Amino acid sequence: MRNPERAIYLDNNATTQVAPEVIEAVHAAMEMTWGNPSSRHAFGLRANALVEEARLAVMRLLGARSPGEILFTSGGTESINTAIHAALAAAPAGRRRILTSTVEHSAVRQSLAPWRESGFEVTEIAVDHEGRLDVEACLAALDSGVALVTVQLANNETGALTETEQLARIGEAARASEVPFHLDAVQGPGKVPLAVGELGCDFLSISGHKFHGPKGVGALWVRPGAAPLFHPLVRGGPQEDERRGGTQNVPGIAGIGRAADLAREWLADGAGARRVRELRDRLESRLLGEIEGARLHAKGAPRLDNTVSVFVPGVEGELLLSSLDAEGLAVSGGAACSSRTKGPSPVLLAMGYGEEEASGTLRLSLSRLTTAEEIERAADVLGSVVQDLRGLFSA
Ligand code: PLP
Repeated sequence: MRNPERAIYLDNNATTQVAPEVIEAVHAAMEMTWGNPSSRHAFGLRANALVEEARLAVMRLLGARSPGEILFTSGGTESINTAIHAALAAAPAGRRRILTSTVEHSAVRQSLAPWRESGFEVTEIAVDHEGRLDVEACLAALDSGVALVTVQLANNETGALTETEQLARIGEAARASEVPFHLDAVQGPGKVPLAVGELGCDFLSISGHKFHGPKGVGALWVRPGAAPLFHPLVRGGPQEDERRGGTQNVPGIAGIGRAADLAREWLADGAGARRVRELRDRLESRLLGEIEGARLHAKGAPRLDNTVSVFVPGVEGELLLSSLDAEGLAVSGGAACSSRTKGPSPVLLAMGYGEEEASGTLRLSLSRLTTAEEIERAADVLGSVVQDLRGLFSA
C-alpha cells in the first residue's frame, strides 16, 4: 500500500514519498544494471553509464556546468561532512574561525563539533525573530582569519530561507577573503529553483529523499575552482574522481537522477509551486481560524512555499503529535531528525521564542503530491483534536 488508508502525510521536510518513476528506475537498476561501475567489462560499463546519466540529471537540477562538479554520497549528512572536511583539512594555520548560523541542522552542527574540539573557533551568526539570517553580521565577520563559512539555504523547521542575492553577497565576500563557502541546500531541490552559479558557494549539499528520491543517497556539488582544496572524507578506491571512495550505490544514484529530472520539470513553469503555495496559505488561514491563539512563525521572512510552522498554545506538544497520528495526520514537532531528542526546538529558541512556544510548535510540510482535499481534512482534524485536548485538560 502506498499510503495507509486515508492517512494524510504532511511531514515532507522530514522525507517525501518516493515517486513511482523513481521506484521504477531503482528497480530497473537493481534488476538489470547490477554490475560494478568500476569494472571494465560490459556489465560494469552499463552500470557506469547509468551513474553518469544520473550525474547529468543532478547537474541539470543544480544548474551546474559539468557533470564532474557533482559527486554522489550516502545523503545530505555525508555531503555536509564531506564539504566541511574538504575545506577544513586544507585550512592554512592562520585560519582558525568557522562561521555558521544559530539555526543549522544537526548534520552541520555535529560535523563542526570535532573541528571545534581540535581548536577551531565556531562563530554562530544570529537570525532574527522571523528566522532571517543576519547577513550583515556574516559579512562583518568574514575576514582572512576564517577557514569556512557554512550556512543553510532554507530551514527545515520553519522554511525561512536566505535569498540568492544575499547568499551571493556572502559568496563574494568569502571569495575576496579566499574562504570556502558551503551551502546546506538539502531543503531546496523540488521547492526552489537552484542555480549554483548564482549562489556564490563553493560546495552545495543535497539529499535524494527530500525530493521524492530514495533515502541514503545524496550529492555534493563542488565548484571547479574549489577542487584543489578538496580532501576526501571517505577514503578507499578511486571512485567519484578520487573524491569519495567506495562502490557507488547504483540503484540509489539511478533513483536520485530520476528524482532530479522530475523535480526540475515540476518547478519549471511555476504552476506546481504556485499550487503548493496556495494550499499552504489555505492551511495557514484555516489553522488560524480553527485554533484559538495559534501563531505562525517565519511568515515575515522569505520562505519555502511548502512549510507551516505553527504554535498551538495550551496543549502539550508530544500529546498533540500522538493524538494527531492516531487520527491519521502525520506532522512533526520541529525537526523529525531531532524529534527523538525531546525538548524545545533550538531553532525557535534561536529565533527568540520562549520554551513554551519552542516546545508547542507543529511543523506541517507539503509536497507536490499534497491535495486540496487533504489540506481541508488536515485542518479539520487539527481543529477538532486541539479542541478535544483542551477540553480534556480544562475539565
Ligand atoms: N540538512 C538539512 C537542512 C536537513 O533538513 C536534513 C534532513 O532533515 C539534512 C541536512 C540531513 O540530510 P540526510 O537526512 O539526507 O542525511
